[in-house]
Amino acid sequence: MQVTQQTRILIVGAGPVGLSAAVELRRRGMTPRIIDRDPGPAPESRALAVNPRTLEILEPSGATDRMLARGNRIHHMIVRTPERELFRFNTKNLHHRFNFLLALAQSETEQILAELLGEAGHPVEWQHELTDLQADGEAFRCAIGPQEEIFDVVVGADGAHSLVRKSLGIEFTGESLPEAWGLADVELESWPFPWDCGVATLSDDYVCAFFPLREGFGRFVSSRADIMDSLPPDARVSKIVWQSEFHISYRQVETYQQGNAFLAGDAAHIHSPVGGRGMNLGIEDAAWLAYLLCEGRAGEYTHLRHGPGAQVLKMTSAPTHLLASRSVWARFLRTVVLPLVFGRPLVQRFLLSRMAGLDTPAPPWLGHFPSKP
Ligand SMILES: Cc1cc2nc3c(=O)[nH]c(=O)nc-3n(C[C@H](O)[C@H](O)[C@H](O)COP(=O)(O)OP(=O)(O)OC[C@H]3O[C@@H](n4cnc5c(N)ncnc54)[C@H](O)[C@@H]3O)c2cc1C
Repeated sequence: MQVTQQTRILIVGAGPVGLSAAVELRRRGMTPRIIDRDPGPAPESRALAVNPRTLEILEPSGATDRMLARGNRIHHMIVRTPERELFRFNTKNLHHRFNFLLALAQSETEQILAELLGEAGHPVEWQHELTDLQADGEAFRCAIGPQEEIFDVVVGADGAHSLVRKSLGIEFTGESLPEAWGLADVELESWPFPWDCGVATLSDDYVCAFFPLREGFGRFVSSRADIMDSLPPDARVSKIVWQSEFHISYRQVETYQQGNAFLAGDAAHIHSPVGGRGMNLGIEDAAWLAYLLCEGRAGEYTHLRHGPGAQVLKMTSAPTHLLASRSVWARFLRTVVLPLVFGRPLVQRFLLSRMAGLDTPAPPWLGHFPSKP
């Protein structure tokens, strides 16, 4: 289908993915409506690694400049035991103008994208919940609160429990791991590393990683649920700002579309946070979908996005198992084999390009479209 300014487009969900879809469609002159059942952007930090691919994608809309101004640039990822450093990734080895990972709380990314839409005169409609979706010929009857409205295109960016996906009868197959992981956003009284370093500390039977969001403040995430008991001994926390547990699932839909309804982000795929790809992959889906809709090529969406999604699911699974495993063999791999292999510049460049999100097809549109939403 070829969308025009008259096409009635509904984006369900104003998380990072729905917001990115709206921003990308707006800057191409389309007029989508975007609704969310919540009263405003989620206050929790949640995803915090913004990778170079996302920075490239959001640059034409003006979001990237604002994100760079507010985020913290991570230049090193150190992997150590509590006693010694095993190896480190230096993002300067990445051949890219954004040769760093940007640590920025998801809540801030959402605020920036919502701000851009508001400034363009098409703000998010908060406290508007989609309660029912029915196909009506090629269009869709959508119940939004007490109203029923017709849309030509529906974008389901409504997260892992997506009503859009369920209404379309699309299965979300995969598995959930039984162990709970823990995370905490904390203020630190003392920490022995510079604030541009991520640090993963490997203990005998768990891993606890730290990502600084700014000087003296950041996120610990652990393969143990009791996060505060699994912090490295050299971390002195002065305040816990947010703490949560989560379970890791690997799920992906087989098709990302049915007629003119499309799924993007967590509605289409969920996986381990190891590697920090989740939100970034979803933003990439949203940007591709906006491009394909405007090019009259939306029929290619599943073909172009299912492969990268499956690749990321697979890629995050092996390191997650390796980091969480308590076997002697896994411990040997982590502390003896990996330092030997990962110290090599070629291996570093290969892995860094994956962390950076540069292993999926490059967006062909960059540089070809007007910039503001
Ligand atoms: C505790 C936690 C920590 C995480 N940490 C990381 C991390 O470190 N790195 C990483 O990459 N990822 C992380 N994630 C995952 C990351 O947050 C998601 O991948 C990302 O939020 C997906 O964005 P999304 O827009 O697809 O979905 P969501 O962010 O879930 O947004 C969906 C939106 O849809 C709205 N909605 C749902 N149903 C309806 C409806 N019927 N009508 C209207 N609105 C609706 C919701 O209110 C919500 O705002 C974390 C997630 C959690 C919960």
